[in-house]
Amino acid sequence: MGPKRVPMRKCIGCQNMKGKRELIRIVATPDGPIRLDPTGKLAGRGAYLCPSADCFERAHKRKALERALKRPVSAEVWELVKQQLEGTVHG
Ligand SMILES: [Zn+2]
Repeated sequence: MGPKRVPMRKCIGCQNMKGKRELIRIVATPDGPIRLDPTGKLAGRGAYLCPSADCFERAHKRKALERALKRPVSAEVWELVKQQLEGTVHG
């Protein structure tokens, strides 16, 4: 038996490839709202971010989430991501 393949995704902040489970998934759902996806199962265009304040700041400054999802991202969405990130870091 070979090693189990872990899907790798690129963080929109630091641009490093990481295992899917190490990253926060943010999804632009087909029916509209941008949502956080802790289960990794929501349909739609996804973006991935390390649970790190540095990566969050970099992605925010560069509007990386807008570019990855190809749609505008409101301040409320950024706030949600930040809260999720803080929960992950400290929880
Ligand atoms: Zn990162």
